[in-house]
Amino acid sequence: MTDAIDSPPTTEMPVRRALALVPRLTDQGYSDALIAERRRWVEERTSTSLPHVGTYSLPGESLRGNIENPIGCCQIPVGVVGPIEVHGEHAEGRFYVPMATTEGALARSYERGMVAITKSGGATCRVLADENCLCPTFECDDLAAATVLARSIPALLPQLQAIANATTGHGRLQRVTAEPLGRRVHFRFGWTTGDAHGMNMIVKGTEAVCQWLVQNTVAKRYLLFSAASGEKRPAGVLLQGGKGKSVVAGALIPAAVLRSVLHVTAAEMLELWQQTVVGHLRSASLGYNGHIANGLTALFIACGQDVANVVNSAIGISTLEVVGDDLYASVHLPSLTIGTVGGGTNLATARECLSMIGCVGSGKVGKFAEITAAMMLAGELSIAAAIASGEFVAAHEAYGRNRPED
Ligand code: NAP
Repeated sequence: MTDAIDSPPTTEMPVRRALALVPRLTDQGYSDALIAERRRWVEERTSTSLPHVGTYSLPGESLRGNIENPIGCCQIPVGVVGPIEVHGEHAEGRFYVPMATTEGALARSYERGMVAITKSGGATCRVLADENCLCPTFECDDLAAATVLARSIPALLPQLQAIANATTGHGRLQRVTAEPLGRRVHFRFGWTTGDAHGMNMIVKGTEAVCQWLVQNTVAKRYLLFSAASGEKRPAGVLLQGGKGKSVVAGALIPAAVLRSVLHVTAAEMLELWQQTVVGHLRSASLGYNGHIANGLTALFIACGQDVANVVNSAIGISTLEVVGDDLYASVHLPSLTIGTVGGGTNLATARECLSMIGCVGSGKVGKFAEITAAMMLAGELSIAAAIASGEFVAAHEAYGRNRPED
């Protein structure tokens, strides 16, 4: 069937072709030679040439677990912005941060906010909570049975934790809630995931618990995903956290720095904030922020994060307050889904970018979260100032236009 519709050579295709003869051929789906062969296959069928997609330094084998049917790599320009001074419980010092983007003016804008924060003495950052969740549903015979199942969960928690925690060396099941709805029960499994993003980890552990519940309680069957977690989709529940790190950053920006770096007064910034709060209300936005998605996406691409998690991670609240002639600014990212191990973090470019901010590997995710929050604060300050001072269009004209030449 697959061959009949002329699909590209897949990473599994060599096995399909010669399954019994060369069982380990599947490993070669990621060899540089097979990647080149697959790319030529595409070039022939699409009458195009892919010299840039085909020029990269990542070893083909390192792509395993991150992509299927690889033909090369896309190249996104990476810029560096900073320094940003951070005073956290995990991150302390000044950092130069990588941003991978094609949006002109973005890096410059974040850098301006960073300079303002650093000249003001830095941003204070804290990780408030750490949880990733999965929300399966269970079917019971009737409402009475569903209620029995839901009510049994608190007493079963230690047993469920033992089952879950046996599936991972780093994940820990922290809590389980269960709410009946008709003859179904909606569950929420809250995990800590160490330094990992954690979805693969918690899917595996949660499924082990689900199987045990079906075998040992009145639960008849389960669906692993109910979509109630807000993973990769906008949802109000994300404002309460539960999809990664809940992290805050704040800084007092003196009037002199507002004037010299951001070209605004505190009163102008407050007016902008008030008007855009109303704008958020009119558009029924989730949370309030200027452009957290911009900075997060650029940081995520540079640092090997799952970019689709920008959807949940960018839901947050930014505040601006006048303090005398100065301005107090803060951001709260309640559902920041990030990791410093696993996912795409081990790809060579991601490791290099994570190493720029000292966030490679185990024990670093809290630091990464705090630097991320400080960076987002910088972006919020800069875009607010650009709009309040009337410099927004001029900045994009100067840095962010690429008109076609014809
Ligand atoms: P992962 O990429 O397999 O890597 C994390 C694993 O590294 C952990 O499971 C853990 O193994 C190990 N590890 C080693 N040192 C660790 C440390 N210090 N802290 C935490 N873990 C450590 O799995 P993941 O992070 O769970 O999943 C991330 C990936 O899932 C992303 O690429 C994302 O795109 C993808 N994803 C999956 C789903 C899904 O539904 N499955 C949904 C969305 C995204 P042990 O668990 O054995 O300790």
